[in-house]
Amino acid sequence: MTETKKIRTDVDNETFWREVGLDVERHDDLIKGLPPVFESVFLTQKNRPEKISYFDSFIQDLHGKRPKEVYDRKNNGDKVIGAFCAFFPEEFVHATGAVPLVLCGGAEFPIADAEKILPRNTCPLIKSSFGFKISNLCPYFQSADLLVGETTCGGKKKMYELLGEYVPTHTLHLPHKKDEALSRNLWFEEVKKFKGKVEELTGRKVTDEKLLAAIDLANRKRLALARVYNTRKADPVPISGKDVLLVMQLALFDDAERFVKKTNELAEELEARVDRGEGVAAKGAPRVLISGTPMTIPNWKLHDTIEKSGAVVVTEESCTGTRYFTDLVDTSDASSSDDLIRAMAEKYLHINCACFTPNNERPVDVVRLAGEYKADGVVYYVLQFCHEFNTEFAKVERALRAVGIPVIKIETDYSDSDRGQLKTRIETFVEMLKASKASKAASVSKEAGIKASATGS
Ligand code: SF4
Ligand code: SF4
Repeated sequence: MTETKKIRTDVDNETFWREVGLDVERHDDLIKGLPPVFESVFLTQKNRPEKISYFDSFIQDLHGKRPKEVYDRKNNGDKVIGAFCAFFPEEFVHATGAVPLVLCGGAEFPIADAEKILPRNTCPLIKSSFGFKISNLCPYFQSADLLVGETTCGGKKKMYELLGEYVPTHTLHLPHKKDEALSRNLWFEEVKKFKGKVEELTGRKVTDEKLLAAIDLANRKRLALARVYNTRKADPVPISGKDVLLVMQLALFDDAERFVKKTNELAEELEARVDRGEGVAAKGAPRVLISGTPMTIPNWKLHDTIEKSGAVVVTEESCTGTRYFTDLVDTSDASSSDDLIRAMAEKYLHINCACFTPNNERPVDVVRLAGEYKADGVVYYVLQFCHEFNTEFAKVERALRAVGIPVIKIETDYSDSDRGQLKTRIETFVEMLKASKASKAASVSKEAGIKASATGS
Protein backbone atom coordinates (compact mmCIF):
# COMPACT_ATOMS: atom_id res chain seq x y z
CA MET A 1 0.00 0.00 0.00
CA THR A 2 1.34 3.42 -0.84
CA GLU A 3 0.19 4.84 2.51
CA THR A 4 2.18 2.19 4.38
CA LYS A 5 5.28 3.22 2.50
CA LYS A 6 4.63 6.87 3.22
CA ILE A 7 4.35 6.30 6.95
CA ARG A 8 7.31 3.93 7.32
CA THR A 9 9.76 6.03 5.38
CA ASP A 10 8.89 9.35 6.98
CA VAL A 11 12.30 10.30 8.33
CA ASP A 12 10.94 13.17 10.40
CA ASN A 13 8.52 10.87 12.14
CA GLU A 14 11.19 8.29 12.78
CA THR A 15 13.55 10.81 14.35
CA PHE A 16 10.72 11.99 16.54
CA TRP A 17 9.70 8.43 17.47
CA ARG A 18 13.24 7.64 18.59
CA GLU A 19 13.39 10.87 20.55
CA VAL A 20 10.24 10.03 22.55
CA GLY A 21 11.55 6.55 23.26
CA LEU A 22 9.32 4.43 21.05
CA ASP A 23 10.33 0.89 20.21
CA VAL A 24 10.63 1.93 16.58
CA GLU A 25 10.99 -1.52 15.04
CA ARG A 26 7.88 -2.92 16.71
CA HIS A 27 6.09 0.37 16.20
CA ASP A 28 6.72 -0.04 12.46
CA ASP A 29 4.85 -3.33 12.59
CA LEU A 30 2.00 -1.72 14.47
CA ILE A 31 1.62 1.31 12.23
CA LYS A 32 1.85 -0.51 8.92
CA GLY A 33 -1.39 -2.32 9.77
CA LEU A 34 -3.37 0.91 9.97
CA PRO A 35 -3.52 2.19 6.35
CA PRO A 36 -5.07 -0.94 4.78
CA VAL A 37 -7.70 -1.15 7.52
CA PHE A 38 -8.44 2.56 7.28
CA GLU A 39 -8.76 2.33 3.51
CA SER A 40 -11.08 -0.66 3.63
CA VAL A 41 -13.30 0.76 6.38
CA PHE A 42 -13.44 4.45 5.41
CA LEU A 43 -12.12 5.21 1.96
CA THR A 44 -14.33 2.67 0.18
CA GLN A 45 -17.45 4.58 1.26
CA LYS A 46 -19.31 6.58 -1.36
CA ASN A 47 -20.58 10.14 -1.16
CA ARG A 48 -18.78 11.11 2.03
CA PRO A 49 -18.97 14.76 3.15
CA GLU A 50 -16.00 16.82 1.95
CA LYS A 51 -15.19 18.17 5.40
CA ILE A 52 -14.42 14.67 6.67
CA SER A 53 -11.07 15.00 4.88
CA TYR A 54 -9.59 16.83 7.88
CA PHE A 55 -10.35 13.84 10.10
CA ASP A 56 -9.02 11.41 7.47
CA SER A 57 -5.73 13.27 7.30
CA PHE A 58 -5.44 13.21 11.08
CA ILE A 59 -5.67 9.40 11.05
CA GLN A 60 -3.34 9.08 8.08
CA ASP A 61 -0.62 10.74 10.15
CA LEU A 62 -1.91 9.60 13.56
CA HIS A 63 1.51 8.98 15.07
CA GLY A 64 3.17 11.92 13.31
CA LYS A 65 1.84 15.46 13.19
CA ARG A 66 -0.35 15.59 16.31
CA PRO A 67 1.96 13.76 18.76
CA LYS A 68 4.82 15.93 17.46
CA GLU A 69 2.73 19.00 18.17
CA VAL A 70 2.06 17.68 21.69
CA TYR A 71 5.74 16.92 22.19
CA ASP A 72 6.69 20.42 21.06
CA ARG A 73 4.30 21.88 23.59
CA LYS A 74 5.86 19.70 26.26
CA ASN A 75 9.31 20.95 25.29
CA ASN A 76 7.99 24.48 25.59
CA GLY A 77 6.96 23.88 29.20
CA ASP A 78 3.34 22.73 28.88
CA LYS A 79 2.53 19.51 30.75
CA VAL A 80 0.73 16.60 29.09
CA ILE A 81 -2.01 14.86 31.04
CA GLY A 82 -3.50 11.59 29.80
CA ALA A 83 -6.68 9.85 30.89
CA PHE A 84 -8.74 6.76 30.09
CA CYS A 85 -12.31 7.66 30.77
CA ALA A 86 -15.12 10.15 30.26
CA PHE A 87 -14.68 10.99 33.96
CA PHE A 88 -11.78 13.27 33.21
CA PRO A 89 -12.29 16.89 34.28
CA GLU A 90 -10.35 18.18 31.30
CA GLU A 91 -11.36 21.76 32.05
CA PHE A 92 -8.57 22.09 34.66
CA VAL A 93 -6.06 20.86 32.12
CA HIS A 94 -7.15 23.48 29.56
CA ALA A 95 -7.19 26.14 32.27
CA THR A 96 -3.48 25.63 33.00
CA GLY A 97 -2.47 25.51 29.33
CA ALA A 98 -1.57 21.80 29.67
CA VAL A 99 -2.52 19.26 27.01
CA PRO A 100 -5.32 16.76 27.77
CA LEU A 101 -5.33 13.41 25.94
CA VAL A 102 -7.51 10.32 26.26
CA LEU A 103 -5.23 7.34 25.83
CA CYS A 104 -7.56 4.32 25.80
CA GLY A 105 -6.16 1.57 23.62
CA GLY A 106 -8.36 0.24 20.84
CA ALA A 107 -5.82 -2.01 19.11
CA GLU A 108 -5.12 -5.72 19.40
CA PHE A 109 -1.38 -5.32 18.79
CA PRO A 110 -0.11 -4.62 22.36
CA ILE A 111 -2.48 -7.05 24.10
CA ALA A 112 -0.06 -10.02 24.10
CA ASP A 113 2.48 -7.87 25.98
CA ALA A 114 -0.14 -6.77 28.50
CA GLU A 115 -1.20 -10.39 29.10
CA LYS A 116 2.27 -11.13 30.48
CA ILE A 117 1.22 -9.05 33.49
CA LEU A 118 -2.58 -8.67 33.44
CA PRO A 119 -4.97 -11.64 33.52
CA ARG A 120 -6.00 -12.76 30.04
CA ASN A 121 -9.67 -12.55 31.01
CA THR A 122 -9.54 -8.74 31.32
CA CYS A 123 -11.38 -6.36 29.00
CA PRO A 124 -9.38 -5.59 25.82
CA LEU A 125 -9.56 -1.83 26.40
CA ILE A 126 -7.69 -2.24 29.67
CA LYS A 127 -5.14 -4.66 28.22
CA SER A 128 -4.56 -2.57 25.11
CA SER A 129 -4.10 0.66 27.10
CA PHE A 130 -1.66 -0.98 29.48
CA GLY A 131 0.14 -2.79 26.66
CA PHE A 132 0.73 0.45 24.74
CA LYS A 133 2.58 1.91 27.73
CA ILE A 134 4.66 -1.05 28.80
CA SER A 135 5.72 -1.76 25.21
CA ASN A 136 6.60 1.85 24.32
CA LEU A 137 4.36 1.77 21.25
CA CYS A 138 2.38 5.00 21.56
CA PRO A 139 3.93 8.45 21.03
CA TYR A 140 1.04 10.12 22.90
CA PHE A 141 1.66 7.94 25.95
CA GLN A 142 5.37 8.70 25.77
CA SER A 143 4.72 12.42 26.23
CA ALA A 144 2.45 12.09 29.25
CA ASP A 145 3.68 13.68 32.48
CA LEU A 146 0.71 12.41 34.45
CA LEU A 147 -1.94 9.76 33.89
CA VAL A 148 -5.39 10.13 35.39
CA GLY A 149 -7.31 7.04 36.37
CA GLU A 150 -10.68 6.64 38.06
CA THR A 151 -12.40 4.02 40.18
CA THR A 152 -14.93 2.93 37.58
CA CYS A 153 -14.56 -0.81 37.00
CA GLY A 154 -12.40 -3.25 38.95
CA GLY A 155 -10.10 -4.07 36.05
CA LYS A 156 -9.21 -0.45 35.40
CA LYS A 157 -8.72 0.34 39.06
CA LYS A 158 -6.16 -2.42 39.49
CA MET A 159 -4.49 -1.66 36.16
CA TYR A 160 -3.88 1.96 37.25
CA GLU A 161 -1.94 0.71 40.28
CA LEU A 162 0.42 -1.13 37.94
CA LEU A 163 0.54 1.73 35.46
CA GLY A 164 1.73 3.94 38.30
CA GLU A 165 4.95 1.92 38.30
CA TYR A 166 5.72 3.33 34.83
CA VAL A 167 4.28 6.88 34.88
CA PRO A 168 2.99 9.08 37.73
CA THR A 169 -0.71 8.21 38.01
CA HIS A 170 -3.46 9.99 39.91
CA THR A 171 -6.67 8.01 40.46
CA LEU A 172 -9.93 9.87 41.03
CA HIS A 173 -12.25 8.25 43.54
CA LEU A 174 -15.55 8.00 41.69
CA PRO A 175 -18.32 6.86 44.07
CA HIS A 176 -20.67 4.25 42.62
CA LYS A 177 -23.94 5.49 44.09
CA LYS A 178 -24.44 8.70 42.19
CA ASP A 179 -27.84 9.55 43.69
CA GLU A 180 -26.64 9.93 47.28
CA ALA A 181 -25.61 13.27 48.81
CA LEU A 182 -22.59 11.62 50.42
CA SER A 183 -21.37 10.43 47.02
CA ARG A 184 -21.91 13.80 45.39
CA ASN A 185 -19.90 15.52 48.09
CA LEU A 186 -17.13 12.96 47.85
CA TRP A 187 -16.97 13.41 44.09
CA PHE A 188 -16.93 17.19 44.44
CA GLU A 189 -13.97 16.90 46.83
CA GLU A 190 -12.20 14.54 44.42
CA VAL A 191 -12.67 16.93 41.50
CA LYS A 192 -11.40 19.78 43.67
CA LYS A 193 -8.40 17.71 44.73
CA PHE A 194 -7.65 17.03 41.06
CA LYS A 195 -7.58 20.78 40.44
CA GLY A 196 -4.84 21.02 43.10
CA LYS A 197 -2.96 18.16 41.47
CA VAL A 198 -3.01 19.87 38.07
CA GLU A 199 -1.88 23.16 39.63
CA GLU A 200 0.96 21.40 41.42
CA LEU A 201 2.10 19.58 38.28
CA THR A 202 1.95 22.59 35.99
CA GLY A 203 3.00 25.22 38.52
CA ARG A 204 0.10 27.31 37.22
CA LYS A 205 -2.97 28.52 39.11
CA VAL A 206 -6.49 27.70 37.92
CA THR A 207 -8.08 31.11 38.38
CA ASP A 208 -11.86 31.49 38.09
CA GLU A 209 -11.36 33.45 34.90
CA LYS A 210 -9.22 30.74 33.32
CA LEU A 211 -11.57 28.03 34.51
CA LEU A 212 -14.58 29.79 33.02
CA ALA A 213 -12.77 30.06 29.67
CA ALA A 214 -11.83 26.37 29.86
CA ILE A 215 -15.40 25.35 30.72
CA ASP A 216 -16.58 27.36 27.74
CA LEU A 217 -14.07 25.61 25.47
CA ALA A 218 -15.06 22.12 26.65
CA ASN A 219 -18.75 23.05 26.31
CA ARG A 220 -18.18 24.31 22.76
CA LYS A 221 -16.57 20.99 21.91
CA ARG A 222 -19.61 19.15 23.28
CA LEU A 223 -21.98 21.45 21.38
CA ALA A 224 -20.12 20.96 18.09
CA LEU A 225 -20.44 17.19 18.50
CA ALA A 226 -24.10 17.50 19.41
CA ARG A 227 -24.62 19.55 16.23
CA VAL A 228 -23.13 16.75 14.09
CA TYR A 229 -25.20 14.13 15.91
CA ASN A 230 -28.36 16.15 15.43
CA THR A 231 -28.07 15.85 11.64
CA ARG A 232 -28.16 12.06 11.97
CA LYS A 233 -31.82 12.26 12.95
CA ALA A 234 -32.64 12.91 9.27
CA ASP A 235 -33.61 10.27 6.76
CA PRO A 236 -31.57 9.83 4.62
CA VAL A 237 -28.67 10.20 7.05
CA PRO A 238 -26.11 12.74 5.77
CA ILE A 239 -23.05 10.93 7.18
CA SER A 240 -22.18 7.34 7.96
CA GLY A 241 -21.89 6.08 11.51
CA LYS A 242 -18.28 5.13 10.81
CA ASP A 243 -17.38 8.68 9.90
CA VAL A 244 -19.02 10.07 13.02
CA LEU A 245 -17.23 7.49 15.14
CA LEU A 246 -13.97 8.71 13.66
CA VAL A 247 -14.80 12.33 14.57
CA MET A 248 -15.79 11.22 18.07
CA GLN A 249 -12.55 9.31 18.55
CA LEU A 250 -10.49 12.30 17.49
CA ALA A 251 -12.30 14.54 19.98
CA LEU A 252 -10.13 12.81 22.55
CA PHE A 253 -6.84 13.55 20.77
CA ASP A 254 -7.03 16.78 18.82
CA ASP A 255 -6.33 20.32 19.95
CA ALA A 256 -9.69 21.44 21.36
CA GLU A 257 -10.03 24.81 19.58
CA ARG A 258 -9.09 23.34 16.20
CA PHE A 259 -11.40 20.39 16.76
CA VAL A 260 -14.33 22.70 17.53
CA LYS A 261 -13.69 24.63 14.32
CA LYS A 262 -13.35 21.55 12.11
CA THR A 263 -16.35 19.83 13.68
CA ASN A 264 -18.55 22.89 13.22
CA GLU A 265 -17.46 23.10 9.58
CA LEU A 266 -18.47 19.47 9.14
CA ALA A 267 -21.80 20.10 10.90
CA GLU A 268 -22.51 23.00 8.57
CA GLU A 269 -21.96 20.80 5.53
CA LEU A 270 -24.15 18.08 7.02
CA GLU A 271 -26.95 20.54 7.77
CA ALA A 272 -26.88 21.66 4.12
CA ARG A 273 -27.03 18.01 3.06
CA VAL A 274 -30.07 17.44 5.24
CA ASP A 275 -31.73 20.49 3.66
CA ARG A 276 -31.09 19.03 0.20
CA GLY A 277 -32.27 15.56 1.27
CA GLU A 278 -28.85 14.14 0.47
CA GLY A 279 -27.62 11.07 2.31
CA VAL A 280 -24.97 8.36 2.48
CA ALA A 281 -27.47 5.53 2.72
CA ALA A 282 -30.73 5.13 0.83
CA LYS A 283 -33.78 6.76 2.38
CA GLY A 284 -35.50 4.10 4.47
CA ALA A 285 -32.34 2.06 5.14
CA PRO A 286 -32.54 0.29 8.52
CA ARG A 287 -31.35 2.61 11.28
CA VAL A 288 -29.29 1.23 14.13
CA LEU A 289 -28.40 2.65 17.53
CA ILE A 290 -25.29 1.22 19.15
CA SER A 291 -25.30 1.18 22.94
CA GLY A 292 -22.60 0.05 25.31
CA THR A 293 -18.86 0.13 25.85
CA PRO A 294 -16.64 2.75 24.21
CA MET A 295 -14.75 2.26 20.93
CA THR A 296 -11.35 3.87 20.60
CA ILE A 297 -9.03 4.02 17.58
CA PRO A 298 -8.77 1.73 15.59
CA ASN A 299 -11.80 -0.13 16.88
CA TRP A 300 -14.15 0.28 13.89
CA LYS A 301 -15.19 -3.37 13.60
CA LEU A 302 -18.83 -3.18 14.65
CA HIS A 303 -19.77 -0.03 12.72
CA ASP A 304 -18.06 -1.43 9.65
CA THR A 305 -19.91 -4.75 9.87
CA ILE A 306 -23.29 -3.08 10.42
CA GLU A 307 -22.88 -0.58 7.60
CA LYS A 308 -21.54 -3.17 5.17
CA SER A 309 -24.67 -5.21 5.95
CA GLY A 310 -26.93 -2.50 4.51
CA ALA A 311 -27.94 -0.65 7.68
CA VAL A 312 -26.74 2.73 8.90
CA VAL A 313 -25.62 3.59 12.42
CA VAL A 314 -27.52 6.70 13.50
CA THR A 315 -26.21 7.21 17.01
CA GLU A 316 -24.02 5.75 19.76
CA GLU A 317 -25.06 5.64 23.41
CA SER A 318 -21.44 5.34 24.47
CA CYS A 319 -18.54 7.29 25.93
CA THR A 320 -17.36 7.57 22.32
CA GLY A 321 -20.80 8.98 21.60
CA THR A 322 -23.63 10.73 23.41
CA ARG A 323 -22.37 10.07 26.94
CA TYR A 324 -19.33 12.21 26.15
CA PHE A 325 -21.12 15.36 25.05
CA THR A 326 -24.76 15.35 26.09
CA ASP A 327 -24.48 17.41 29.26
CA LEU A 328 -22.79 20.78 29.52
CA VAL A 329 -21.20 22.33 32.57
CA ASP A 330 -23.80 24.87 33.67
CA THR A 331 -22.16 27.80 35.45
CA SER A 332 -25.18 30.10 35.35
CA ASP A 333 -25.74 29.90 39.14
CA ALA A 334 -22.07 29.88 40.12
CA SER A 335 -20.87 32.73 42.32
CA SER A 336 -17.67 31.26 43.78
CA SER A 337 -14.74 29.03 42.81
CA ASP A 338 -16.37 26.12 44.63
CA ASP A 339 -19.61 26.68 42.69
CA LEU A 340 -17.69 26.35 39.41
CA ILE A 341 -16.11 23.10 40.57
CA ARG A 342 -19.44 21.80 41.82
CA ALA A 343 -21.02 22.58 38.43
CA MET A 344 -18.26 20.54 36.80
CA ALA A 345 -18.62 17.66 39.27
CA GLU A 346 -22.40 17.55 38.69
CA LYS A 347 -21.99 17.45 34.92
CA TYR A 348 -19.68 14.47 35.10
CA LEU A 349 -22.05 12.59 37.40
CA HIS A 350 -24.64 12.62 34.61
CA ILE A 351 -22.53 10.18 32.58
CA ASN A 352 -24.50 6.94 32.86
CA CYS A 353 -21.58 4.55 33.17
CA ALA A 354 -22.50 0.97 34.02
CA CYS A 355 -20.13 1.18 37.00
CA PHE A 356 -22.92 2.97 38.92
CA THR A 357 -25.50 1.24 41.03
CA PRO A 358 -28.27 1.78 40.40
CA ASN A 359 -27.92 3.21 36.92
CA ASN A 360 -31.60 3.45 36.05
CA GLU A 361 -31.11 6.57 33.94
CA ARG A 362 -29.25 4.58 31.29
CA PRO A 363 -32.07 2.29 30.03
CA VAL A 364 -34.34 5.36 29.96
CA ASP A 365 -31.72 7.23 27.94
CA VAL A 366 -31.27 4.41 25.43
CA VAL A 367 -35.04 4.34 24.79
CA ARG A 368 -35.11 8.14 24.48
CA LEU A 369 -32.24 8.14 21.98
CA ALA A 370 -33.81 5.32 19.97
CA GLY A 371 -36.92 7.49 19.64
CA GLU A 372 -35.09 10.72 18.81
CA TYR A 373 -32.88 9.11 16.16
CA LYS A 374 -35.75 6.91 14.86
CA ALA A 375 -33.70 3.76 15.36
CA ASP A 376 -35.28 0.56 14.01
CA GLY A 377 -33.07 -1.58 16.23
CA VAL A 378 -30.33 -1.49 18.84
CA VAL A 379 -27.01 -3.29 18.79
CA TYR A 380 -25.82 -3.62 22.37
CA TYR A 381 -22.04 -3.68 22.34
CA VAL A 382 -20.01 -5.31 25.10
CA LEU A 383 -16.25 -5.59 25.19
CA GLN A 384 -15.34 -9.10 26.26
CA PHE A 385 -15.01 -9.50 30.04
CA CYS A 386 -16.75 -6.18 30.77
CA HIS A 387 -19.09 -7.41 33.48
CA GLU A 388 -20.60 -3.99 34.13
CA PHE A 389 -22.03 -3.41 30.66
CA ASN A 390 -22.71 -7.10 30.10
CA THR A 391 -24.85 -7.41 33.23
CA GLU A 392 -26.62 -4.11 32.61
CA PHE A 393 -27.86 -5.51 29.29
CA ALA A 394 -30.74 -7.22 31.12
CA LYS A 395 -32.24 -3.85 32.12
CA VAL A 396 -31.59 -2.13 28.81
CA GLU A 397 -33.08 -5.07 26.89
CA ARG A 398 -36.20 -5.04 29.08
CA ALA A 399 -36.69 -1.30 28.53
CA LEU A 400 -36.30 -1.63 24.76
CA ARG A 401 -38.58 -4.65 24.47
CA ALA A 402 -41.25 -2.77 26.44
CA VAL A 403 -41.42 -0.21 23.63
CA GLY A 404 -41.08 -2.78 20.84
CA ILE A 405 -37.51 -2.00 19.74
CA PRO A 406 -35.51 -5.09 18.74
CA VAL A 407 -32.08 -5.50 20.30
CA ILE A 408 -29.15 -7.83 19.82
CA LYS A 409 -26.16 -8.17 22.16
CA ILE A 410 -22.71 -8.45 20.63
CA GLU A 411 -19.82 -9.37 22.90
CA THR A 412 -16.48 -9.13 21.16
CA ASP A 413 -12.83 -8.13 21.50
CA TYR A 414 -10.31 -6.35 19.25
CA SER A 415 -9.29 -9.40 17.25
CA ASP A 416 -10.56 -10.39 13.83
CA SER A 417 -11.17 -13.97 14.88
CA ASP A 418 -14.95 -13.54 15.18
CA ARG A 419 -15.43 -11.41 12.04
CA GLY A 420 -17.31 -14.18 10.21
CA GLN A 421 -19.62 -14.97 13.09
CA LEU A 422 -20.21 -11.28 13.75
CA LYS A 423 -21.08 -10.69 10.10
CA THR A 424 -23.60 -13.54 10.07
CA ARG A 425 -25.32 -12.37 13.25
CA ILE A 426 -25.45 -8.73 12.16
CA GLU A 427 -26.69 -9.56 8.66
CA THR A 428 -29.49 -11.66 10.14
CA PHE A 429 -30.43 -8.82 12.49
CA VAL A 430 -30.40 -6.27 9.66
CA GLU A 431 -32.56 -8.55 7.47
CA MET A 432 -35.02 -8.83 10.34
CA LEU A 433 -35.11 -5.01 10.64
CA LYS A 434 -35.72 -4.68 6.90
CA ALA A 435 -38.55 -7.20 6.99
CA SER A 436 -40.16 -5.50 9.96
CA LYS A 437 -39.89 -2.06 8.27
CA ALA A 438 -41.44 -3.47 5.09
CA SER A 439 -44.32 -5.02 6.95
CA LYS A 440 -44.95 -1.80 8.94
CA ALA A 441 -44.92 0.21 5.68
CA ALA A 442 -47.36 -2.28 4.08
CA SER A 443 -49.80 -2.03 6.98
CA VAL A 444 -49.60 1.79 6.95
CA SER A 445 -50.43 1.92 3.23
CA LYS A 446 -53.19 -0.67 3.69
CA GLU A 447 -54.68 1.47 6.48
CA ALA A 448 -54.40 4.56 4.28
CA GLY A 449 -56.16 2.66 1.46
CA ILE A 450 -58.99 1.62 3.77
CA LYS A 451 -59.42 5.20 5.02
CA ALA A 452 -59.37 6.56 1.45
CA SER A 453 -62.03 4.12 0.24
CA ALA A 454 -64.12 4.79 3.36
CA THR A 455 -64.09 8.54 2.62
CA GLY A 456 -64.52 7.94 -1.11
CA SER A 457 -61.35 9.92 -1.93
S1 SF4 B 1 -17.83 3.36 30.00
FE1 SF4 B 1 -17.48 4.08 32.11
S2 SF4 B 1 -15.39 3.50 32.51
FE2 SF4 B 1 -15.62 3.43 30.31
S3 SF4 B 1 -15.03 5.47 29.55
FE3 SF4 B 1 -17.20 5.52 29.91
S4 SF4 B 1 -17.45 6.34 31.96
FE4 SF4 B 1 -15.34 5.61 31.78
S1 SF4 C 1 -15.30 -1.54 28.86
FE1 SF4 C 1 -15.99 -2.26 30.85
S2 SF4 C 1 -14.34 -3.52 31.67
FE2 SF4 C 1 -13.51 -2.31 29.97
S3 SF4 C 1 -12.67 -0.51 30.93
FE3 SF4 C 1 -14.76 0.03 30.36
S4 SF4 C 1 -16.05 -0.44 32.14
FE4 SF4 C 1 -14.03 -1.44 32.43
